[in-house]
Amino acid sequence: MQQDKIRNFSIIAHIDHGKSTLADRLIEFTGGVSEREKEDQLLDSMDIEKERGITIKAQSVRLEYKGHILNLIDTPGHVDFSYEVSKSLKSSEGALLVVDATQGVEAQTLANVYMAVENDLEIIPVINKIDLPSADPERVAEEIEQTIGIDASDAILVSAKTGIGIEELLDAIVERIPAPDGDPEAPPKALIYDSWFDNYLGAVCLVRVFDGSIKKNQEVLVMGTGKKHKVLDLYYPHPIKKLKTDEIKTGEIGVVVMGLKNVADIRVGDTITDAKNPANEPADEFEEAKSFVFAGIYPIDTDKYDDLRDALEKLQLNDASITFEPETSQALGFGFRVGFLGMLHMEVVKERLEREFGIELIATAPSVTYKVKLTDGEEMEISNPSELPPPNKIDKIYEPYVKATILTPNEFVGNLIQFLNEKRGVQTKMDYLSPERVLLEYEIPLNEIVTDFYDKLKTLTKGYASFDYEPIGYREGDLVKMDIRVAGEPVDALSVIVPRDKAERRGRELIKVMKELIPRQLFEVAIQASIGNKIIARETVKALRKDVTAKCYGGDISRKRKLLEKQKKGKKRMKAIGKVNIPQEAFLSVLKID
Ligand code: GDP
Ligand code: MG
Repeated sequence: MQQDKIRNFSIIAHIDHGKSTLADRLIEFTGGVSEREKEDQLLDSMDIEKERGITIKAQSVRLEYKGHILNLIDTPGHVDFSYEVSKSLKSSEGALLVVDATQGVEAQTLANVYMAVENDLEIIPVINKIDLPSADPERVAEEIEQTIGIDASDAILVSAKTGIGIEELLDAIVERIPAPDGDPEAPPKALIYDSWFDNYLGAVCLVRVFDGSIKKNQEVLVMGTGKKHKVLDLYYPHPIKKLKTDEIKTGEIGVVVMGLKNVADIRVGDTITDAKNPANEPADEFEEAKSFVFAGIYPIDTDKYDDLRDALEKLQLNDASITFEPETSQALGFGFRVGFLGMLHMEVVKERLEREFGIELIATAPSVTYKVKLTDGEEMEISNPSELPPPNKIDKIYEPYVKATILTPNEFVGNLIQFLNEKRGVQTKMDYLSPERVLLEYEIPLNEIVTDFYDKLKTLTKGYASFDYEPIGYREGDLVKMDIRVAGEPVDALSVIVPRDKAERRGRELIKVMKELIPRQLFEVAIQASIGNKIIARETVKALRKDVTAKCYGGDISRKRKLLEKQKKGKKRMKAIGKVNIPQEAFLSVLKID
């Protein structure tokens, strides 16, 4: 295929605005998939993605249309994966900005479009769901112009559901998006914008070739790792077929198979070049994905420690952004401190550990990484609150901050401002995009966001607000460690780091939540929150009045057995701390407080 007939484009959209449906329609229209092969939502391939209706991994597909090759590069639609989004955009010359005609521009869309604009991509506004009676494409077009500052008068109006406007959109892709440039004679330069583990092929990567070409049997160099590999196979991405090829040329995208066991050898953002005739510099800067959120992960059954380590190692083969190291807790025993890109990533990993590897876990509340300057001048980083040194040894504590962008209907602004103040946010911007919609910008500690911030934001705004954040570095904080005791036993896994001036209130709320979550025992259980030696709050879980099985004695034995089985099941997700069984939810109580 001639280089001038290639079009590489990404799709940027807020969750539920119809990205997957549109991608499916484009594939179907260009004959990429026959009716028989059709499966709902072709591009969302992981189970968890399908269940939650979100795209985590960027998927790609090579389409043919009117003598052109159209390479569709899907982008993940969640804040946790913005590094991957940036590499997908870097690999494209154009982007479809898909906006729901009944909704409008949302925060995550904004962040991604700004990134596309910075990368000089040709942006085609696509207003979707125009089949719906409440669609208001004109208002949405105005909002696109207002917020992004691009001309939306030539937006393409489509219905990904019914197929209206799909042909017009394909023509616009061919006409408006420039062909890739790049020198076919230069040493090869291929940017890895996605990688994953395939059970048959091993770790494989998806690349965009910027110069030269990647050929079958070629000896290549991965520039970031410095390792050399042989190209065993090449194919063009497609949801169903494996379209093999001998060469991926300048401007094209394709999957490279090198017989690797570990995706860490082919990380997103790295560049592949020729081993003997390498490019002078990589296609793009390469940074290793950085963990933002950490949690202790412990097997409920202590015999499963080795299984948990094996499972984490296997997951890491597939997802190089997971980090872990062994950790010991007095309360929970042997486990791991695991690092994640963000909250959704954490949920996905926890779910995969349980579902794919069958290991039952206790997870501690997520934490960020603090930088601590000690009185003796030494500095340390901690991502486990229980490791914070005693107050007399601490000079200063620094915590990570983010810039949060929130888009909300006007009517919720008052509530949101109050909520964000409580979360220690400082307002840096408030813009009316229209009389009804407001953009808020806040600088806020990341620690306030790794709780159930997102859920609360959604509840406060009846689901209408959208939210995005980016790191802006560390700032000093007046922070203290709060410890929790259950029945007199300190439970290190429940320690949290809190702002000093909110410590008492949060401590009281925390143990109130825990009181509801810890089941009654045969004896009274005290729950206490303390800072240093000072108890700041206490609650008591009352003792059970009598044995729940007592009334079955001498009577219905099968009923008694059922009751005991039921209790056993309920206990599964609990961890015995001293004499008390603490359920998983109690370890996450801190997420429930304001
Ligand atoms: P994504 O999260 O951006 O990938 O969105 P999906 O493609 O999963 O679509 C979200 C929901 O909107 C699904 O229920 C779709 O069936 C629906 N949807 C997508 N496009 C259209 C459209 O053009 N018209 C209507 N009425 N519904 C649509
Ligand atoms: Mg989707």
